[in-house]
Amino acid sequence: MSTAILSALTEEQSSLVEHLAHPQRVMHAGRAFWLGELHDQRVVLALSGIGKVAAATTATALIEHFGVARIVFTGVAGGLGDGVNVGDVVVAQDYVQHDMDASPLFPRWELPGYARSRLACDPVLTAMLLEAVSHCVSGASGPWGLKTATGAAHVVHQGLVASGDRFVSTAHESRHLRTALCSAGHDVLAVEMEGAAVAQVCHDYGLPFAAVRTISDRADDEAHGDFAEFVQTVASRYAEQIMLSFVKLLQKT
Ligand code: SAH
Repeated sequence: MSTAILSALTEEQSSLVEHLAHPQRVMHAGRAFWLGELHDQRVVLALSGIGKVAAATTATALIEHFGVARIVFTGVAGGLGDGVNVGDVVVAQDYVQHDMDASPLFPRWELPGYARSRLACDPVLTAMLLEAVSHCVSGASGPWGLKTATGAAHVVHQGLVASGDRFVSTAHESRHLRTALCSAGHDVLAVEMEGAAVAQVCHDYGLPFAAVRTISDRADDEAHGDFAEFVQTVASRYAEQIMLSFVKLLQKT
């Protein structure tokens, strides 16, 4: 059984494709899927597309059409929590859809039919991802040798990530989002646009899911510029190193 590595952006996927043994490109549902091996592990590399629906379609195709055994997401996100800065890494513990609101029929953020607001990531896969990230961050070479803008070292966080169909790009919005979620006990670290959808699809199919997000911006008024530069310069190398290290750990299991 193979492992799906899902990325949101082409920049994140292309470096991994270069490492594939026996690469095979398959078109399905208007998307390109790359089949092959990384460190002798069968993998399917896919682009989630941007937003929850695109990501849910890709995840469903990976499960139904390619029969993957697990899905791991690698991408970038906006930092919301205190001290979650550009260049840091967030490993998701669980996910909430920040734009889910069926109130007053259901409590704000609750997923109708699921009796909960948050979906947890798989603890075993998440622990492996955390180990892979720590491995990369503690290594002094490569992109991890770079310091953050303030000269500080990269920090690895683990916790709640929020997804929704918005690129959050004003300080006002990110403050509002965080305050509202926190007031309901959802202490959110980062915001992005796909993870919660993939978590829900994996939950429905009973498949293990884990996700890692490198912080590309602070979801504030500078987010757009920070995001573009980060994706071009470092995001792909981060994704490459983390995933290669992760697949090595998978090989040992
Ligand atoms: N310019 C890109 C679109 C980027 S959308 C393009 O043309 O392809 C932003 C992507 O990064 C999404 O996949 C989302 O998951 C993540 N992301 C990074 N920062 C974010 C933020 N501040 N708010 C929401 N999503 C963010």
